Amino acid sequence: MRAFEATQYFFDSAADHLNISAEMRQMMQTPRREVQVRVTIERDNGQLANYMGFRVQHDNHRGPMKGGLRYHPDVDLDETRSLASLMTWKTAVVDLPYGGAKGGIGVDPSELTQREIERLTRAFVDQIHELVGPDTDIPAPDMGTDHRVMAWFRNQWEKYHGFNPAVITGKPVEQYGAKGREEATGRGVGTLTFKTIKRLGRKPEGCRVAIQGFGNVGTHAAKFLHEAQFPIVAVSDVSGTYFDPDGLNIGELLRHKIEHPRGLLEGYNGCKKLPLSDLLELDVEVLMPAALGGVITEANVDKIKASVIIEAANGPIYPAADQQLYERGVTVLPDILANAGGVTVSYFEWVQNRQHYRWPLDRVRGELDHTMSEAFENVWQMSQQRKVSLRMAAYMIGIQRVQRAAELAGLTS
Ligand code: GLU
Repeated sequence: MRAFEATQYFFDSAADHLNISAEMRQMMQTPRREVQVRVTIERDNGQLANYMGFRVQHDNHRGPMKGGLRYHPDVDLDETRSLASLMTWKTAVVDLPYGGAKGGIGVDPSELTQREIERLTRAFVDQIHELVGPDTDIPAPDMGTDHRVMAWFRNQWEKYHGFNPAVITGKPVEQYGAKGREEATGRGVGTLTFKTIKRLGRKPEGCRVAIQGFGNVGTHAAKFLHEAQFPIVAVSDVSGTYFDPDGLNIGELLRHKIEHPRGLLEGYNGCKKLPLSDLLELDVEVLMPAALGGVITEANVDKIKASVIIEAANGPIYPAADQQLYERGVTVLPDILANAGGVTVSYFEWVQNRQHYRWPLDRVRGELDHTMSEAFENVWQMSQQRKVSLRMAAYMIGIQRVQRAAELAGLTS
């Protein structure tokens, strides 16, 4: 099963609960626009290199389309389409005045120098600058991109269209970025993990956590959960799984990551090292996929021991596995709710840019916590009332909001 098919499946199951007509479903599922471009750069050694770039604008009934840019070798049209549709439901679940989009380039950024990534980003903007803008489609960071890429993107876009930092979010704080944007996804994930555990009548101290992925989302979630007294017994990155049954020293791991090449945990010897694939199957209460999509499938779902799964990544669980987990009584906090903290603070950044007014960090954190908590309550209640999983409840809320906006605007708008 490919990524978009999985997202479609979840959409369709929720649409069944809502009795949505076939025509309406088709309209809501089909992206408004999909763009595929060739991005050519000159490498530092003088050789040409070609990559494929994508931007899928999924839906704009609730506002300008919003979603990140991913630089990763797996990026293709299907994956981008799936991630763009997830953004539509995600922005609707947390009730931001946005639609959904996603983009990226099929490239392994770890094989390029910073100057090459800058040229790649500028060449990509040259191809798509007319499609994005503060009122139409606003990109942001995702896997493989960061505040520097956002700064190059903005700079190149402004060469065509003039000053307007609200064209992209996740910018450096010194250049119209929002305080708290970088930590936002991990913080939101942490806040909702805590709420989920409390709602299930458990205590953080008794919930061992394993986190797959130690990038932007994984590190900030780890920090937050560590402070909230959760024992984090395992984290992984491409170099392997780092495990300590008594709880890892998160401060030391973060220091190692900062001090080592490519931000990897390679060489850390303050704990046991296990093969990469062991992480998902560890004996823990809380499992947090915080890296790629499609990691929990029919092939490995039987081996998952956690009773709570927090989807910090986008699309980590495929439908057949999701169904089995539901039947086993595993609580899954779905991606479109769990990791919505990033796009929520992106929205705060965009608002600040448009008002030429800067918020202090406390305000960003306070409003983020409020937005996430409200969305969590709505989803939890819907799941109780309709006796459906949290994923179904989140999709149902998102779909209803998009449908309502479409109806209010006139269906063929
Ligand atoms: N890439 C993030 C996500 O998947 C953030 C998107 C944004 O801030 O627009 O939600």
